[in-house]
Amino acid sequence: ATQPYDDQNVFAKILRGEIPCRRVYEDEWSLAFHDINPQSPTHILVIPKGAYVSWDDFSAKASDAEITGFVRAVGHVAREAGLVAPGYRLLANTGTNSHQEVPHLHVHVFAGRQLGPLLA
Ligand code: 5GP
Repeated sequence: ATQPYDDQNVFAKILRGEIPCRRVYEDEWSLAFHDINPQSPTHILVIPKGAYVSWDDFSAKASDAEITGFVRAVGHVAREAGLVAPGYRLLANTGTNSHQEVPHLHVHVFAGRQLGPLLA
């Protein structure tokens, strides 16, 4: 079972405007902003606005509209940032073994360099 949602997590605070972020994109369902500690020249995080701990929680409980909106937002962010031709990587850590640190679902968008093999 997924842990209960902690509304004091840092991305919940960003969604409430309690701490700042470098916003890239926002719509009804999603918010995208630059990672504070980038691992590639472009490192954007895309999060759903709903209170979902992880990919597991979101995929099990979110409405079709939330899921569609979120998936489209991730694609939109990458296209608008010009990442399609050079290429990009999506990553969503989920749960203990993944080293997920922030317990609000986020998809990492990595780009801007040759990323190398997965998990390198
Ligand atoms: P995770 O390890 O949970 O998949 O990734 C969490 C990500 O959130 C990390 O890449 C980390 O740098 C980023 N992060 C943590 N706190 C903040 C913050 O306050 N603002 C922003 N923009 N990113 C954050």
